[in-house]
Amino acid sequence: MSEIIKTDVVIIGAGPVGLFAVFELGLYDLKCHLIDILDRPGGQCAELYPEKPIYDIPAWPIISGHDLTEKLMEQIKPFAPQFHFNRMVTKLERQADGSFHVETDEAEVFEAKLVVVAAGGGSFQPKRPPVPGIEAYEGKSVFYSVRRMEEFRDQDILIVGGGDSALDWALNLQPIARSLTVVHRRAEFRAAPDSVKKMFELVESGSVRFELGQVSGLKGEDGQLTHATIKGTEGETDIPVTRLLPFFGLTMKLGPIADWGLNLHENLIPVSVETFETSEPGIFAIGDINTYPGKLKLILSGFHEAALMTQAAKHIVSPGERIVFQYTTSSTSLQKKLGVN
Ligand code: FAD
Repeated sequence: MSEIIKTDVVIIGAGPVGLFAVFELGLYDLKCHLIDILDRPGGQCAELYPEKPIYDIPAWPIISGHDLTEKLMEQIKPFAPQFHFNRMVTKLERQADGSFHVETDEAEVFEAKLVVVAAGGGSFQPKRPPVPGIEAYEGKSVFYSVRRMEEFRDQDILIVGGGDSALDWALNLQPIARSLTVVHRRAEFRAAPDSVKKMFELVESGSVRFELGQVSGLKGEDGQLTHATIKGTEGETDIPVTRLLPFFGLTMKLGPIADWGLNLHENLIPVSVETFETSEPGIFAIGDINTYPGKLKLILSGFHEAALMTQAAKHIVSPGERIVFQYTTSSTSLQKKLGVN
């Protein structure tokens, strides 16, 4: 087990609401570590609709899911949050001294004074592509995310998909791969145009191979892939493959949240509308994962919840301390924290 990471707050989920919570908690000197299953911040905004315009973020008449995430990242920068991507929080337990023990599926251990569950619709889980027998290779030579790039060094990598994850990893892994092939069933890509351009430059230079088609079969032994069959416009061909990364999108499942001893109502976490605390003192739930009378699953509701939650959180961490309500426009102490004064 790795060294214990001690922090004020562990935020489970780096969606828009988890990100904004860093800002509110930061104003009250609470340091945060954020853990997310995805390989980037932004939650649903980044994963489900990065390019779609959102019209109901206050003061942004129009902003895309991607740009909103970028702006939130910029806004929380002064508080230096620590991110842990590609990890699922699997365990959450209260310890004898009242602090919380948080564990991920990568065996990292956190010890936090408070926990904020900002887990949205739950865990994003990868969709398995319809390739016969793929289960036998999962976790050995078929992976749905890249947790350690070293596992891909000097391998014959096949990446399947046309979205941001597929192309970002194609560009990142190409320099360390023995060979890298991208397979996509259409000539059009959903990924950022700049990534598509860069990938085709690598195809031109012969560093990446691109195939229009689908993976129809896998060959190998004991979970170790040796070849994949690609069904393209001109029939089927076998190519050498030792690592397969299918990016077929994600579905949302509640995941391990159900095992943390929190009261749940229809897979949502009921909270107090004053504090956004759950049935467990010291564990808060904000954003799409919570429920209360009149709840609206909107980003702006999550932002409001983050502000109120912070007041209650500060009371727990600094009991007896008078909490002074201040405006960022006029408080020099808040401006100092923001690095603007
Ligand atoms: P999410 O964005 O869902 O983020 C939660 C994060 O938690 C995820 O990244 C997930 O991977 C992570 N997570 C969950 N469980 C774990 C775990 N055990 N361990 C580690 N990580 C975990 N809202 C608006 O206000 N305006 C709109 O116009 C709008 N349009 C939308 C359009 C679409 C197509 C969709 C799908 C949603 C839209 N929404 C809109 C809703 C909005 O996206 C959500 O309200 C918002 O994303 C909720 O933010 P969140 O941070 O609570 O959760």
